[in-house]
Amino acid sequence: MRKKTIRDVDVQGKRVFVRVDFNVPLDDGRIADDRRIREALPTITLLREHRARTILASHLGRPQGKVDDTLRLDSVAKRLGELLGAEVRKLQDCIGPEVEAAVAAMKDGDVVLLENLRFHKGEEANDLEFAPALARLADLYVNDAFGTAHRAHASTVGIAKLLPAVAGLLLEKELNYLSSALENPNRPFVAVLGGKKVSDKIGVIRNLLTKSDALLIGGAMSYTFLKAKGFEVGKSLCEDDKLDLARSLMTDAGKRRLAFHLPEDVVVADRFAEDAAYKTVPAEAIPKDWMGMDIGSHTAATYAKVIRDAMTVMWNGPMGVFEMPPFARGTRAVAEAMAQSKGVTIVGGGDSAAAVEQEGLANQMTHVSTGGGASLEFLEGKELPGVAVLADR
Ligand code: ADP
Ligand code: MG
Repeated sequence: MRKKTIRDVDVQGKRVFVRVDFNVPLDDGRIADDRRIREALPTITLLREHRARTILASHLGRPQGKVDDTLRLDSVAKRLGELLGAEVRKLQDCIGPEVEAAVAAMKDGDVVLLENLRFHKGEEANDLEFAPALARLADLYVNDAFGTAHRAHASTVGIAKLLPAVAGLLLEKELNYLSSALENPNRPFVAVLGGKKVSDKIGVIRNLLTKSDALLIGGAMSYTFLKAKGFEVGKSLCEDDKLDLARSLMTDAGKRRLAFHLPEDVVVADRFAEDAAYKTVPAEAIPKDWMGMDIGSHTAATYAKVIRDAMTVMWNGPMGVFEMPPFARGTRAVAEAMAQSKGVTIVGGGDSAAAVEQEGLANQMTHVSTGGGASLEFLEGKELPGVAVLADR
């Protein structure tokens, strides 16, 4: 990697501010999934082993710059303490004299967790007072929050301009997997793209058109492509203002001699509901009053074969409305084919990662990205501001 990491710097006895992504899903105040906490353990463990004073900071939810007692990080600190087998003191704020005093009292090897960064407006605004107030707490800055690296906030960019700044091990891992797939993939390199909207994924499609050997399209966005080809799509989600764009992307794919796959058959439903009537029809024969909910079984089999034959697979976006069991089959087929593949398999995108978790296949992927929006921007070929600001090797 081009950026320095915590392995490249001396942290012994230093106060190290680590931006982590502890934005965990909550269910009635309980942590519904602690994956994001577990993913931060390698960095925290390395810092403890090297006797650093570790100051962890994260946001949780969207408190909009105000204290919200339901979004405090106490339960996160407790869970982290259990995982580490060490005490993690949770502070009542993330800046100010009391926080500074608590940090001054830390001993080598200690870990504290600051309160939710987004209780302060200055965090998302990256304002000129909040970032220095954070920076005062530490000697060194570490970014290990891949999921927020695409945001230029005080804790991701502001503070990194005020302190020596390096990457944590999770950030390093994310960047290594995603960039090796994009820059230097083992071929054939297959990209599987689905999800809600073509407009959300234009940048990703454009970038992957230039890099992959085959594109497999599914999800709601396939109907925009099918309509652009002149097919009836009934009541399927479709972006009518993106038809020209869809045509130009398909023309581009043709010029590059890339295999551009659209669904051959689709599962249609009579309404958008789990208990709707549904049937499988050819993609060119979607009935007027029905809507496309998933790729059909022929398409799923074709896509699964292309995936199994690939040496690198990058997947972003579910193939159908996977939250409803009757329409999860296409997404499951893709996830299973990736799990069986001998190649490098990478999943990016929040809902795609959730779908892989739902199928219990996350452990069988080479890498499931922890950053939804950040992984999308990375796949678009953009440099993430939270990464750009870190010291080069
Ligand atoms: P990701 O978060 O992985 O980038 P998106 O947010 O783009 O993925 O899309 C995920 C959403 O797309 C899911 O909620 C899923 O239900 C929805 N979706 C997929 N296929 C369809 C479809 N045919 N009709 C309506 N919604 C769909
Ligand atoms: Mg999503």
